Amino acid sequence: MSKKVGIDLGTTFCAVAIYNESTKQPEIVKNRFGNKITPSVIQICDDGEIIIGDEAKDAFDEGDNGCITAFKRGMGENKPYAYVNGQGYTSEDLSAILLKELKEMAEETLNDTIDEAVITVPAYFFHKERQATLNAAKKAGIKVRMLINEPTAAALNYGIDHFRENAIILVYDLGGGTFDVTLLQMGQNKEINCLKTMGNHILGGKDWDRALVSYIVSLIESETGEYLNDDFAFINSLSGKVEKIKKDLSKATQTKVKLHIPNYGLYETIISREIFEQITKSLLDQTVTLCESILLESHLQWHDITDILLVGGSTRMPQVSSYLQKISGHKPLTLMNPDEAVALGAAIQTTLPLPKYNTYTASTNETIQKGQVKPEEKLTTVASIRVNDVQAHALGIIAVNSEGTYYENQNIIPANQEIPVKRAKKFKYYTSPNKNNEVDIYLLQGTRPILECEILNKYVISGIRHMDEPTTIRIQYSYDMSGMVHVQARQEDDNIDLPIREEPIEEDLSRFGQPIPKQKIKQEPTTVLFVIDTSGSMAGERIKEAKLSIKDFIKKLSLHNVTYGLIAFSESVTQVVSFSNRPSKIIDKLPSFDSGLGGCGTDADPFPTIQSMFNGIRGKKYAIVLTDGEWYGNARKATSTSQLCKDKDIQIIAIGIGEADIEFLRKISSMPADALKIDVTQLRTSFGNIAQSIGGNTTTREDISYSEVETWKAVDE
Ligand code: ADP
Ligand code: MG
Repeated sequence: MSKKVGIDLGTTFCAVAIYNESTKQPEIVKNRFGNKITPSVIQICDDGEIIIGDEAKDAFDEGDNGCITAFKRGMGENKPYAYVNGQGYTSEDLSAILLKELKEMAEETLNDTIDEAVITVPAYFFHKERQATLNAAKKAGIKVRMLINEPTAAALNYGIDHFRENAIILVYDLGGGTFDVTLLQMGQNKEINCLKTMGNHILGGKDWDRALVSYIVSLIESETGEYLNDDFAFINSLSGKVEKIKKDLSKATQTKVKLHIPNYGLYETIISREIFEQITKSLLDQTVTLCESILLESHLQWHDITDILLVGGSTRMPQVSSYLQKISGHKPLTLMNPDEAVALGAAIQTTLPLPKYNTYTASTNETIQKGQVKPEEKLTTVASIRVNDVQAHALGIIAVNSEGTYYENQNIIPANQEIPVKRAKKFKYYTSPNKNNEVDIYLLQGTRPILECEILNKYVISGIRHMDEPTTIRIQYSYDMSGMVHVQARQEDDNIDLPIREEPIEEDLSRFGQPIPKQKIKQEPTTVLFVIDTSGSMAGERIKEAKLSIKDFIKKLSLHNVTYGLIAFSESVTQVVSFSNRPSKIIDKLPSFDSGLGGCGTDADPFPTIQSMFNGIRGKKYAIVLTDGEWYGNARKATSTSQLCKDKDIQIIAIGIGEADIEFLRKISSMPADALKIDVTQLRTSFGNIAQSIGGNTTTREDISYSEVETWKAVDE
């Protein structure tokens, strides 16, 4: 029967564990060399041979070429982490090599195949790093049951042996490059609930190393006068040595340091633990500040914490435990081996039911229920345990604020929601009948202003149907149980997803930090009335071109909010299409729209009808009047009735073909420039130009792609 394992894929070491059904305990699976942990080191030899783990670490310590370490730090990056013999290797590739080896070694030890694994990741790992971890496992031929956060796994391992109902546990995880603090509570139904997690991704053992380097360099300067800060070769070699000094100081209260200094010779000094603790006190303070923030946010105080659990190699420094004890009044628990705890927790997870999706709850900052902590018990059956995890990062979307003046980061999933979780929000979007309606979604991590957030991904939603009214798009973000983000979108109340694709994020996103120009966001409604001469003289080419021109006009006017109407005038005035923001209404009428409609002569004055149709209409108003001749008895009257329209802010554009008189056109148009006498063959071009200039009054061509984003407004939840 094949086995399920837990894998701690660490920066410096890895460990594999399995849940032993007969002892009801998780156990470490030793590697080929009988070791419980395997160094995360890979050596790529000149002949192409790949050496992994213990032997690669030995080679690294010998100073051999081609050794790659700490590649977990580059997870999710789209570039090689290291080059060996001219070939680049990404962290994902290197992790795949390592995982494959771990799997094979464990299969040898267990004398069985492994069909599934729970892999641990730092709580701060985000989508790309998690994705890279999943990809690496896939390349290694490992089916991943789920990813689990390292502090949660450590707490799970601790929790089954030391379960105390109502206990609140603070997991302090100080690794090589990062620091995470996580609060968990042991609940009433034998569940371990992760309440909150926070981290600093640029604070870890490395920083203690760096502090030691600068201390030693300044010590040398004061004692020998040698200034070494610019001597990169010396600094590099010292950086390689300080980790050992640091580790020595975890065991002994002082250690002897011997260094070879260029131009000086052998230099010897003694470094005490006390000094080391002094020079790194500010680093420790930073971790404690973060612990205090998580307590503050949870309305807890140090005395509410039942236990502090230390995880991560750097918690072996005695200063960590003594300082935490001083500040909290609790002796932190160091009873378990930090190198194994995480893998053991992951092994337990292989036996637990997989978590189910939660619906979003608004009460993330609810006060934690403090209760009487019950006596410790050892849970013999883990099947009853539930582990509820959270995700450290809030997820937002770039949208327009309610005034339409700025872009803002609108939160969809707040930080520290129990995962897996889904949440949808509705946004208003103006479609256009004339083009593909697509919407850009920028996935933001965190709750800070847009340009201070990490933009994780850009998605383009396509296939949005045109709607006359602004349509509703529901955007759903979800975190799955492995903390991976998924984005889905639906229109209106549809129950199928819109197509969605990923696109590279543009380099220059500065526009999201700037105010939105007024004309871009607040598009005034625009109303266009076609006023077409249908007298007998329009028959044939003239009316045919007029109809094509109307069609072209509609196609070229790319505004969101346009209403069209159509009237005919000849011996009488006919309202063919009353105002509608559905251009298809006009298009559908055109086949039956012909000369002779309303009579053969041109006696009727259309302006009173125009005026009454526009009555009560707001925004930009245009009447496009097309005629091919004299208005006989009405010419004089029309100049005054048109004036009434102009007084109502209706912009009259008068276009004449055939026998039309330019002087007359100028009289009825709003401005002399709005009168046009052209040949029928130019009619379509003219209509097109007018459409573009009307469009340009509201928004320029380039702005149109922006305006899609700009019309994102959350309407409700
Ligand atoms: P990660 O999870 O990032 O791989 P680990 O939990 O393995 O990190 O911790 C690695 C860090 O712990 C390194 O910075 C290492 O120097 C430090 N470390 C390991 N052992 C000791 C020790 N005995 N004393 C002090 N620091 C230690
Ligand atoms: Mg670790």
